[in-house]
Amino acid sequence: MGEAVEAGDLVRSYGATKALRGVSFEVRQGEIFGLVGPNGAGKTTTVEIIAGLRRPDSGSVSILGLDPFRDEWRLRTLLGIQQQESELPERLRVREAMELFSSFYPRTLDWESLIDRMNLSEKLDSFFYTLSGGQKRRLFIAIALLSDPDVVILDELTSGLDPQGRRMLWELVEDMRASGKTILLTTHYMDEAQQLCDRVGIIDRGVMVVVGTPQELISRISSGIRLLATLGSGSGESCLAAVRKIGGVESASLDSDGHTLTANASSGTVLVELVRVLDSVGADLGDLRTERPTLEDVFLAVTGREMRD
Ligand code: ADP
Repeated sequence: MGEAVEAGDLVRSYGATKALRGVSFEVRQGEIFGLVGPNGAGKTTTVEIIAGLRRPDSGSVSILGLDPFRDEWRLRTLLGIQQQESELPERLRVREAMELFSSFYPRTLDWESLIDRMNLSEKLDSFFYTLSGGQKRRLFIAIALLSDPDVVILDELTSGLDPQGRRMLWELVEDMRASGKTILLTTHYMDEAQQLCDRVGIIDRGVMVVVGTPQELISRISSGIRLLATLGSGSGESCLAAVRKIGGVESASLDSDGHTLTANASSGTVLVELVRVLDSVGADLGDLRTERPTLEDVFLAVTGREMRD
Protein backbone atom coordinates (compact mmCIF):
# COMPACT_ATOMS: atom_id res chain seq x y z
CA MET A 1 0.00 0.00 0.00
CA GLY A 2 1.32 3.46 -0.88
CA GLU A 3 1.37 6.51 1.35
CA ALA A 4 -1.99 7.94 2.41
CA VAL A 5 -1.06 11.43 1.24
CA GLU A 6 1.74 12.55 -1.06
CA ALA A 7 2.40 16.23 -1.69
CA GLY A 8 5.08 17.03 -4.29
CA ASP A 9 6.69 20.42 -4.68
CA LEU A 10 3.58 22.51 -3.99
CA VAL A 11 3.87 26.14 -5.03
CA ARG A 12 1.20 28.75 -4.43
CA SER A 13 1.15 32.55 -4.39
CA TYR A 14 -1.57 35.04 -3.47
CA GLY A 15 -0.65 38.06 -5.55
CA ALA A 16 2.84 39.04 -4.43
CA THR A 17 2.73 36.76 -1.36
CA LYS A 18 4.55 33.50 -1.94
CA ALA A 19 2.59 31.29 0.48
CA LEU A 20 4.22 27.99 -0.62
CA ARG A 21 7.63 27.79 -2.28
CA GLY A 22 7.85 24.07 -3.00
CA VAL A 23 6.43 21.94 -0.19
CA SER A 24 6.86 18.16 -0.34
CA PHE A 25 5.99 15.51 2.25
CA GLU A 26 4.19 12.21 2.74
CA VAL A 27 1.69 11.05 5.32
CA ARG A 28 1.84 7.33 6.04
CA GLN A 29 -1.22 5.14 6.46
CA GLY A 30 -2.47 5.13 10.04
CA GLU A 31 -0.25 7.85 11.44
CA ILE A 32 -0.89 11.24 12.99
CA PHE A 33 1.17 13.67 10.93
CA GLY A 34 1.51 17.26 12.14
CA LEU A 35 2.23 20.19 9.88
CA VAL A 36 3.79 22.59 12.37
CA GLY A 37 4.81 26.21 12.03
CA PRO A 38 4.06 29.78 13.04
CA ASN A 39 1.08 31.76 11.77
CA GLY A 40 1.42 32.56 8.09
CA ALA A 41 3.84 29.67 7.42
CA GLY A 42 1.55 28.12 4.79
CA LYS A 43 -0.15 25.32 6.75
CA THR A 44 -3.75 26.11 5.81
CA THR A 45 -2.85 26.69 2.17
CA THR A 46 -1.15 23.27 2.12
CA VAL A 47 -4.04 21.32 3.62
CA GLU A 48 -6.60 23.16 1.51
CA ILE A 49 -4.70 22.18 -1.62
CA ILE A 50 -4.52 18.58 -0.41
CA ALA A 51 -8.27 18.57 0.23
CA GLY A 52 -8.93 19.92 -3.26
CA LEU A 53 -10.33 23.22 -1.94
CA ARG A 54 -7.62 25.37 -3.47
CA ARG A 55 -5.52 24.89 -6.58
CA PRO A 56 -1.74 25.05 -6.42
CA ASP A 57 0.15 27.12 -9.01
CA SER A 58 2.21 23.95 -9.55
CA GLY A 59 2.98 20.67 -7.83
CA SER A 60 1.19 17.38 -7.29
CA VAL A 61 -1.08 15.81 -4.68
CA SER A 62 -2.20 12.23 -4.26
CA ILE A 63 -4.58 10.99 -1.56
CA LEU A 64 -5.00 7.22 -1.35
CA GLY A 65 -3.74 7.15 -4.92
CA LEU A 66 -6.41 9.62 -6.09
CA ASP A 67 -6.19 13.18 -7.40
CA PRO A 68 -8.17 15.67 -5.27
CA PHE A 69 -9.24 17.67 -8.31
CA ARG A 70 -9.93 14.86 -10.81
CA ASP A 71 -11.35 12.33 -8.34
CA GLU A 72 -13.31 14.79 -6.22
CA TRP A 73 -16.40 12.60 -6.05
CA ARG A 74 -14.64 9.44 -4.99
CA LEU A 75 -12.70 11.35 -2.36
CA ARG A 76 -15.82 12.92 -0.86
CA THR A 77 -16.41 9.89 1.30
CA LEU A 78 -12.75 8.90 1.80
CA LEU A 79 -11.56 12.27 3.09
CA GLY A 80 -12.96 14.34 5.97
CA ILE A 81 -11.81 17.85 6.79
CA GLN A 82 -12.35 20.13 9.75
CA GLN A 83 -11.51 23.61 8.59
CA GLN A 84 -10.10 26.33 10.75
CA GLU A 85 -12.76 28.97 10.40
CA SER A 86 -15.94 27.02 9.83
CA GLU A 87 -19.26 28.61 10.65
CA LEU A 88 -22.88 27.49 10.62
CA PRO A 89 -26.06 29.57 10.82
CA GLU A 90 -26.50 30.87 14.38
CA ARG A 91 -29.91 29.32 14.85
CA LEU A 92 -29.18 25.91 13.40
CA ARG A 93 -29.52 23.28 16.10
CA VAL A 94 -26.87 20.56 16.55
CA ARG A 95 -29.43 17.90 15.57
CA GLU A 96 -30.38 19.84 12.43
CA ALA A 97 -26.73 20.29 11.45
CA MET A 98 -26.10 16.55 11.67
CA GLU A 99 -29.25 15.74 9.69
CA LEU A 100 -28.35 18.29 7.05
CA PHE A 101 -24.77 17.09 6.56
CA SER A 102 -25.86 13.42 6.64
CA SER A 103 -28.13 14.12 3.69
CA PHE A 104 -25.06 15.03 1.59
CA TYR A 105 -23.75 11.44 1.64
CA PRO A 106 -25.16 8.22 0.23
CA ARG A 107 -24.18 6.43 3.45
CA THR A 108 -23.04 7.72 6.83
CA LEU A 109 -22.17 6.51 10.29
CA ASP A 110 -24.95 6.71 12.85
CA TRP A 111 -24.64 10.40 13.68
CA GLU A 112 -26.17 10.12 17.14
CA SER A 113 -23.36 7.84 18.28
CA LEU A 114 -20.82 10.23 16.72
CA ILE A 115 -22.35 13.10 18.70
CA ASP A 116 -22.17 10.91 21.77
CA ARG A 117 -18.47 10.21 21.14
CA MET A 118 -17.89 13.96 20.82
CA ASN A 119 -19.61 14.44 24.19
CA LEU A 120 -22.33 16.62 22.67
CA SER A 121 -25.46 14.55 23.33
CA GLU A 122 -26.78 17.11 25.78
CA LYS A 123 -26.46 19.80 23.12
CA LEU A 124 -28.61 18.16 20.43
CA ASP A 125 -31.31 20.82 20.70
CA SER A 126 -28.96 23.76 21.26
CA PHE A 127 -28.45 26.48 18.70
CA PHE A 128 -25.01 26.59 17.09
CA TYR A 129 -24.27 30.05 18.46
CA THR A 130 -24.72 28.90 22.06
CA LEU A 131 -21.92 26.31 21.84
CA SER A 132 -18.50 26.98 23.39
CA GLY A 133 -15.39 27.06 21.20
CA GLY A 134 -14.52 23.47 22.09
CA GLN A 135 -18.08 22.26 21.45
CA LYS A 136 -18.15 23.93 18.03
CA ARG A 137 -14.81 22.33 17.20
CA ARG A 138 -16.17 18.89 18.24
CA LEU A 139 -19.33 19.41 16.19
CA PHE A 140 -17.21 20.10 13.10
CA ILE A 141 -15.15 16.99 13.81
CA ALA A 142 -18.37 14.95 14.04
CA ILE A 143 -19.36 16.37 10.64
CA ALA A 144 -15.91 15.55 9.21
CA LEU A 145 -16.27 11.95 10.42
CA LEU A 146 -19.82 11.40 9.11
CA SER A 147 -18.76 9.48 6.01
CA ASP A 148 -16.32 7.37 8.07
CA PRO A 149 -13.36 8.69 6.00
CA ASP A 150 -9.98 6.94 5.85
CA VAL A 151 -8.08 10.23 5.92
CA VAL A 152 -8.99 13.09 8.26
CA ILE A 153 -7.58 16.61 7.97
CA LEU A 154 -7.79 18.81 11.06
CA ASP A 155 -6.74 22.45 10.61
CA GLU A 156 -5.69 24.21 13.83
CA LEU A 157 -7.72 21.72 15.82
CA THR A 158 -7.16 23.22 19.27
CA SER A 159 -6.29 26.88 18.69
CA GLY A 160 -7.93 29.15 21.23
CA LEU A 161 -9.11 26.31 23.48
CA ASP A 162 -8.32 25.92 27.17
CA PRO A 163 -5.99 23.10 28.31
CA GLN A 164 -8.88 20.81 29.21
CA GLY A 165 -10.55 21.30 25.83
CA ARG A 166 -7.24 20.66 24.07
CA ARG A 167 -6.60 17.45 25.98
CA MET A 168 -10.07 16.17 25.18
CA LEU A 169 -9.46 16.71 21.46
CA TRP A 170 -6.05 15.02 21.65
CA GLU A 171 -7.79 11.93 23.04
CA LEU A 172 -10.33 12.02 20.22
CA VAL A 173 -7.54 12.20 17.65
CA GLU A 174 -5.77 9.25 19.30
CA ASP A 175 -9.06 7.31 19.15
CA MET A 176 -9.28 8.07 15.44
CA ARG A 177 -5.80 6.66 14.91
CA ALA A 178 -6.71 3.56 16.97
CA SER A 179 -9.67 3.00 14.65
CA GLY A 180 -7.29 2.91 11.68
CA LYS A 181 -7.65 6.41 10.28
CA THR A 182 -4.82 8.52 8.92
CA ILE A 183 -4.71 12.02 10.40
CA LEU A 184 -3.08 15.11 8.93
CA LEU A 185 -3.31 18.04 11.31
CA THR A 186 -1.88 21.52 11.45
CA THR A 187 -0.86 23.32 14.60
CA HIS A 188 1.18 26.27 15.76
CA TYR A 189 1.54 24.68 19.21
CA MET A 190 4.87 22.87 19.44
CA ASP A 191 3.86 21.01 22.62
CA GLU A 192 0.79 19.67 20.83
CA ALA A 193 2.89 18.42 17.92
CA GLN A 194 5.42 16.83 20.26
CA GLN A 195 2.83 15.00 22.36
CA LEU A 196 0.30 13.99 19.75
CA CYS A 197 2.04 13.43 16.43
CA ASP A 198 3.87 10.33 15.22
CA ARG A 199 5.75 12.49 12.73
CA VAL A 200 5.93 16.22 12.16
CA GLY A 201 6.94 18.47 9.31
CA ILE A 202 8.15 21.92 10.34
CA ILE A 203 7.05 24.50 7.79
CA ASP A 204 8.30 28.08 7.80
CA ARG A 205 7.67 30.85 5.26
CA GLY A 206 6.33 28.41 2.70
CA VAL A 207 9.23 25.97 2.97
CA MET A 208 9.22 22.53 4.58
CA VAL A 209 12.32 22.79 6.73
CA VAL A 210 12.52 19.33 8.26
CA VAL A 211 10.41 16.14 8.63
CA GLY A 212 10.70 13.35 11.19
CA THR A 213 9.43 11.95 14.47
CA PRO A 214 9.60 14.48 17.31
CA GLN A 215 12.30 12.38 19.00
CA GLU A 216 14.38 12.12 15.82
CA LEU A 217 14.29 15.85 15.31
CA ILE A 218 15.14 16.58 18.93
CA SER A 219 18.04 14.14 19.02
CA ARG A 220 19.32 15.56 15.74
CA ILE A 221 19.97 18.90 17.45
CA SER A 222 21.14 17.47 20.77
CA SER A 223 21.38 14.22 22.68
CA GLY A 224 22.14 16.16 25.81
CA ILE A 225 20.47 17.42 28.87
CA ARG A 226 20.31 20.77 30.63
CA LEU A 227 20.68 21.12 34.38
CA LEU A 228 19.38 24.15 36.22
CA ALA A 229 20.55 24.60 39.81
CA THR A 230 19.35 27.34 42.13
CA LEU A 231 22.19 28.38 44.45
CA GLY A 232 22.38 30.34 47.68
CA SER A 233 24.01 33.75 47.51
CA GLY A 234 27.77 33.87 47.13
CA SER A 235 28.49 30.37 45.84
CA GLY A 236 27.72 31.03 42.16
CA GLU A 237 31.18 31.86 40.77
CA SER A 238 32.99 28.99 42.51
CA CYS A 239 30.30 26.54 41.41
CA LEU A 240 30.53 27.77 37.82
CA ALA A 241 34.31 27.33 37.72
CA ALA A 242 34.06 23.79 39.15
CA VAL A 243 31.23 22.74 36.83
CA ARG A 244 33.10 23.94 33.75
CA LYS A 245 35.92 21.50 34.52
CA ILE A 246 33.66 18.44 34.43
CA GLY A 247 34.14 16.24 31.36
CA GLY A 248 30.90 16.10 29.36
CA VAL A 249 29.78 19.61 30.34
CA GLU A 250 29.57 21.46 27.04
CA SER A 251 28.75 24.89 28.43
CA ALA A 252 27.75 26.49 31.70
CA SER A 253 26.56 29.93 32.72
CA LEU A 254 25.17 31.92 35.62
CA ASP A 255 22.17 34.19 35.34
CA SER A 256 22.68 37.89 36.03
CA ASP A 257 21.82 37.72 39.74
CA GLY A 258 24.15 34.75 40.21
CA HIS A 259 21.49 32.46 41.65
CA THR A 260 20.76 30.09 38.78
CA LEU A 261 23.46 27.99 37.21
CA THR A 262 22.68 26.40 33.86
CA ALA A 263 24.87 23.58 32.56
CA ASN A 264 24.47 21.84 29.21
CA ALA A 265 25.82 18.31 29.32
CA SER A 266 26.38 15.82 26.51
CA SER A 267 24.36 13.12 28.24
CA GLY A 268 22.31 12.41 31.32
CA THR A 269 25.12 10.36 32.87
CA VAL A 270 27.00 13.59 33.66
CA LEU A 271 24.29 14.50 36.15
CA VAL A 272 25.65 12.44 39.03
CA GLU A 273 29.08 14.03 38.67
CA LEU A 274 27.52 17.49 38.47
CA VAL A 275 25.66 17.06 41.72
CA ARG A 276 28.75 15.58 43.42
CA VAL A 277 30.93 18.52 42.31
CA LEU A 278 28.37 21.11 43.39
CA ASP A 279 28.21 19.43 46.78
CA SER A 280 32.01 19.25 47.12
CA VAL A 281 32.46 23.00 46.52
CA GLY A 282 29.91 23.70 49.21
CA ALA A 283 27.13 24.93 46.96
CA ASP A 284 24.09 26.02 48.91
CA LEU A 285 21.78 24.02 46.67
CA GLY A 286 18.14 25.04 46.46
CA ASP A 287 16.13 23.75 43.55
CA LEU A 288 17.67 21.32 41.07
CA ARG A 289 15.96 20.35 37.84
CA THR A 290 16.71 19.05 34.37
CA GLU A 291 15.31 19.92 30.96
CA ARG A 292 15.51 18.16 27.65
CA PRO A 293 15.31 20.08 24.39
CA THR A 294 11.86 20.30 22.84
CA LEU A 295 10.45 20.86 19.37
CA GLU A 296 10.61 24.60 20.16
CA ASP A 297 14.40 24.22 20.34
CA VAL A 298 14.32 22.31 17.04
CA PHE A 299 12.43 25.18 15.42
CA LEU A 300 15.00 27.64 16.73
CA ALA A 301 17.87 25.44 15.52
CA VAL A 302 16.52 24.96 12.00
CA THR A 303 15.12 28.45 11.36
CA GLY A 304 17.31 30.62 13.59
CA ARG A 305 14.20 32.24 15.04
CA GLU A 306 11.99 31.76 18.07
CA MET A 307 8.67 30.12 17.25
CA ARG A 308 6.82 32.92 19.05
CA ASP A 309 8.18 35.76 16.88
P1 ADP B 1 -0.87 29.32 8.13
O1 ADP B 1 -2.03 28.38 8.00
O2 ADP B 1 0.41 28.61 8.41
O3 ADP B 1 -1.15 30.41 9.12
P2 ADP B 1 -1.65 30.29 5.52
O4 ADP B 1 -1.57 29.19 4.54
O5 ADP B 1 -3.01 30.66 6.04
O6 ADP B 1 -0.63 30.02 6.71
O7 ADP B 1 -1.03 31.61 4.87
C1 ADP B 1 0.24 31.63 4.23
C2 ADP B 1 0.48 33.03 3.66
O8 ADP B 1 -0.45 33.31 2.63
C3 ADP B 1 0.32 34.15 4.68
O9 ADP B 1 1.25 35.15 4.38
C4 ADP B 1 -1.10 34.62 4.43
O10 ADP B 1 -1.24 35.98 4.81
C5 ADP B 1 -1.24 34.43 2.93
N1 ADP B 1 -2.64 34.13 2.54
C6 ADP B 1 -3.37 33.06 2.91
N2 ADP B 1 -4.60 33.08 2.34
C7 ADP B 1 -4.64 34.20 1.59
C8 ADP B 1 -5.64 34.78 0.74
N3 ADP B 1 -6.82 34.21 0.55
N4 ADP B 1 -5.32 35.94 0.12
C9 ADP B 1 -4.12 36.53 0.29
N5 ADP B 1 -3.14 36.03 1.06
C10 ADP B 1 -3.38 34.88 1.70
